[in-house]
Amino acid sequence: MTEAAQIRRLKRQIRALRCAPSPMVPLAGLARQRCIACGGTDLSVCRYPAYQSRFFAGLILAQCGACGLAWVPLPGLDLDDYYTNHYADEFRVERAYDGAFYGPENPIWSKPEHKGRDRARGHAADLARFGPFSRVLDLGAGEGLFLHAVEAAEKYAVEPDAYSVRILRDELGVTVQDLDARRDFFDLVMSSHSLEHFTYDRLGGVLAGVLAALRPGGLFHVEVPAGAAQLERFVSGERGTRQRLEPHTLFFSSHALALVLARAGFELVESAVCPWTETHIGADLPAPAVRRAGPALIVIARRPD
Ligand SMILES: [Zn+2]
Repeated sequence: MTEAAQIRRLKRQIRALRCAPSPMVPLAGLARQRCIACGGTDLSVCRYPAYQSRFFAGLILAQCGACGLAWVPLPGLDLDDYYTNHYADEFRVERAYDGAFYGPENPIWSKPEHKGRDRARGHAADLARFGPFSRVLDLGAGEGLFLHAVEAAEKYAVEPDAYSVRILRDELGVTVQDLDARRDFFDLVMSSHSLEHFTYDRLGGVLAGVLAALRPGGLFHVEVPAGAAQLERFVSGERGTRQRLEPHTLFFSSHALALVLARAGFELVESAVCPWTETHIGADLPAPAVRRAGPALIVIARRPD
């Protein structure tokens, strides 16, 4: 991008943020909300610290003081229009490449480092100790980087984005379906950077759907940003040059993530401690093994036998 084009883009972004619509939120309804992770009512609100999204700049966030979970506290918030009409413009600039995604010409395969590609390969390598898998589902698969990397006889995806669905079907032979299309079926459900995109009033239904789709004993691999810790930094006015929270609508602490999974009926196999949890709760977790912590939270849970 030339310098002039960059300046034009920045001006567009600034104008969009300055004119962001902001919904009026009835206070009485806000005051009745409870935390979906712990049931707590010790809630605080702040503005949504948006980076560049006109849609998110006008929203607010609520956070539970007891478990750290934060969410956009607007009941029935409709993100369909956002994901269909604005998401790609705001965040998917890499789609400039229009050849076969899994073709050798795609620069993604020759780069020494690529965040999404390397993360997917890392997950596939790490999960091999639980394999072999015959049926694997990726919830929010995107272009299918994990499904491409993992070894499994049958591969399935839940993915609303039309660009990604074409790649999944045509290039990888993945079956794209709704979450409730199969019951007692999968050995492994992957959810990498996907749960934080659901609204607080839909998360319970999604987790119930994953539990029902897994076979008894099947694994649920969850990766989400350490959102509660991110939010703590943003609220104090700290932000890296390119750091953004949108379009996330849920922000997890490791403590809150463990609670929502347990509430949904999962058993924890491996967990992590995030900085928020360590500061506010302590490092002890109700999990048999604490494996990793970092900018992303990774938890492995299972459907009980
Ligand atoms: Zn809570």
